[in-house]
Order: sequence, then structure tokens, then C-alpha cells
Amino acid sequence: MQRTHELFQQARELIPGGVNSPVRAFKGVGGEPITFERGEGPYIWDVDGKRYVDYVNSWGPLVAGHAEPDVIRRVQETVAKGLSFGTPVELEVEMARKLCELVPSLDMVRLVNSGTEATMSALRLARAHTGRDKIVKFQGNYHGHVDALLVQAGSGALTLGVPGSPGVPQSVVADTLTLPYNDAEAVEKCFNEHGSEIAAVIVEPVAGNMNCVPPVPGFLEKLRECCDKSGSVLIFDEVMTGFRVGPNCAQGRFGIKPDMTCLGKVIGGGMPVGAFGGRRDIMEGLAPVGGVYQAGTLAGNPVAMAAGLATLEKITAPGAFDGLEATTAKLVDGFKQRADKAGVPLTTNQAGSMFGLFFTSESPVTTFEQVKACDLEAFNRFFHAMLEEGVYLAPAAFEAGFVSLAHDETAVQETLDAAERAFARV
Ligand code: PMP
Repeated sequence: MQRTHELFQQARELIPGGVNSPVRAFKGVGGEPITFERGEGPYIWDVDGKRYVDYVNSWGPLVAGHAEPDVIRRVQETVAKGLSFGTPVELEVEMARKLCELVPSLDMVRLVNSGTEATMSALRLARAHTGRDKIVKFQGNYHGHVDALLVQAGSGALTLGVPGSPGVPQSVVADTLTLPYNDAEAVEKCFNEHGSEIAAVIVEPVAGNMNCVPPVPGFLEKLRECCDKSGSVLIFDEVMTGFRVGPNCAQGRFGIKPDMTCLGKVIGGGMPVGAFGGRRDIMEGLAPVGGVYQAGTLAGNPVAMAAGLATLEKITAPGAFDGLEATTAKLVDGFKQRADKAGVPLTTNQAGSMFGLFFTSESPVTTFEQVKACDLEAFNRFFHAMLEEGVYLAPAAFEAGFVSLAHDETAVQETLDAAERAFARV
């Protein structure tokens, strides 16, 4: 690992922590992050030439796998015509149409450059629409590094033990109410007390930033019911779950229609993209139609649209999602069988092509408290054993795993053979 080590030493001098996003830094699992240079299908290669089966997939976007030939071709054709114009372009209309067709809650959508921008803008719009300030979020859910949402946040904030953040003014988070995920009773109680002041509830419909925790029956239904009663805007943050949990996102899978939806990751296919959209009467509050200001120099640029559209074509092709989900089930069942055989307590969760591995004897895992109580040291040992074996899992116990359309029988079998040896060392 000579080259990766050298590069990380240089990076640490030049970039805080040597990384451009904290969760990449291996802080939770220990050791040094690996520098990668190439991907193909289910595999990635580091700068020292070692190959890994990849279950991070750039933290979700690469649902079609690495360097998928049609995605790359579409991007190359588009790039050749220029990178960005800062004007309306045809591909952004195509993207907006596709999203409105595929995502049940979208009448209209606006494209941005990241998931963070999407949630930040959705909140602003929901507050303007309702004329209220308070928002509800859930412990262990992560919605990007938006000031008002960096309260008891998941993902890297959780791994680093800083679920809030210095630099966020108290006044900005004073209107953020935080509730336990999957606790319908707590939601009802909160609405009984504050319902008329609540502008919006923002939720990951499958939590993917506290490992992978699907909603318990009745939880999303309760959110819908409370928001309807109090006139609050229900926002599904589907930045991660969008086209990962189902071909019509989590809202399609669970049959609950939010008022607004945030998207990112898959809809950019590996390019920087986000989107937020929803009911027409809410979306028309945005400038230049309405007064709520939001903008972006590179928003809707053709290159990002091309990558996203080509990726969406892959995941919505007939049979594609079912196949992906079946592959994920095979992988997850395989992990469980091999852990049982090695006598390692393991509980698994799956939602579409997302999965979670929990080193605990408790089953099922449905709450943030349960996630935090898992054996993190066992996960870390498993992570490093798998890394040695040539399997790249997310370098933190609080992250979901992602399978892609490119993960075939061979890649899954390779992974499970590696897991058999790794569990024996846990
Ligand atoms: N929302 C969710 C549910 C996410 O998982 C993430 C990123 N992991 C974000 C928002 C923020 O997206 P980005 O990193 O593109 O700003």
C-alpha cells in the first residue's frame, strides 16, 4: 500500500484530514483511507493495483456499477458539445420529465448540485409556504450539512461523535425539533403540542445514515396523518433511497405520498446532482414564479443530466430493479448464513438495493438506540478483514451498503467466500 500511503500523507498537508468529506477518513474503523483510481462494473482498483468488490458505489449513486459503458458514452457525447451554458438546455427538461413520471409526489422539480442543496432549499420553501418556522427531524437521520439539520445527525457526524456542529448558531437550530426514528407515538405527541407551529417534517423514509433501518409499519403513515391534520409539509429526503429502494423510490414502495421530495445520488449517476420537488402549489412559490429565492450556476448542466438520465434508464429497464433486489437478498442472506456458521451474532436489514449489517444478537433492528448499541469493534474487525480479502465495505458502522446492477453471481460469491474467512477472524 505504498502509493496510497504516500498520497494520503500529502493529502493531509493540503486538505483537512486528507479528505474532502469526513466519512471517507476511516475515523470509525481506524487505519488510513485507500486512494482509488479506477472502477469497472462491481470492482474498484486502488493506486497500488489491488482490486476490490465495491459495496460503497460512491456512497450510493453508482446503481449501474462503475464506468457503465452506456453511461460513459452518453456523458462523452454530451461533454463534446460543451460542459455548461447557464441557460435552459434540453437534457434538463428530459430529466425533469423523467423524475415527474417516476416519482409519485412530483408535479414539478428543480435541479440543484447536491443533496445538501436540495434539503436546504426544500426547507426554505416549506417554511415560506406554511408561514411557520419549526421543523421536525429524526435522530440518526442525515440530510446533508444544512445548519438547521445538523442536529443529532447521522452518517459522518455520528461516526465522529459530533452529531451537532460548532459554528451552527443556537438561533438557527432553535426551531429544529428532534424525535426518535420509527416512533409514531413520539410524533403524535409532538404534533399534539406543536402541530400548528410545524412547517415541515423531514425524514429519510428508509434511514440510511444510521446503517440501514427501514420504517416500521405505521411510522410513515403516522407522519402523513399528522402533517395532513396540522397543515405541515411532509418532506421525504430520498437523496439516498431514490431509485435505491424501488424504481419509484421509497414513496412508491411504501405507498405514502409526501408533499415534497429531495433527490440526489442516483439521479446524477456519479456526477454532482440534487433535486427537490413536489406539489405544484408549493413549487410555484419558488423564484422566478414566487418569492422564495434559490439558484445555481451549474444547476441542470447537461453533463450531469446525461449521466443521470443514462443511469435512470438502466435502473428502470424492465426487470432491472427486481434483479438487483434479488442479488441484494442473496448477498444479505449469505452474510447471515456465514456469520451464523462462525458463531458471530449478526442481524441484517435490506431495503431494495440497500443493506445493513449489525453486529448484535437483537433482531430486528428498528431503532437508533439499537444501532448505537451494536458491537462496533466487531464491525471494525470485520471491515478490515474484508478489506484484506478484497471487499470494500463502507468504512463506518453507521453507513448502509449498496449493491449495483453490475454485481453478478461471481462478485457476490467472491464476497461471500471472503466473508466466510472474515467472520472466522471477528
Ligand atoms: N440526504 C441524505 C439522505 C443523504 O444520504 C445525503 C448524503 N449522504 C444528503 C442528504 C446530502 O447529500 P450531499 O452529500 O450530496 O450533499
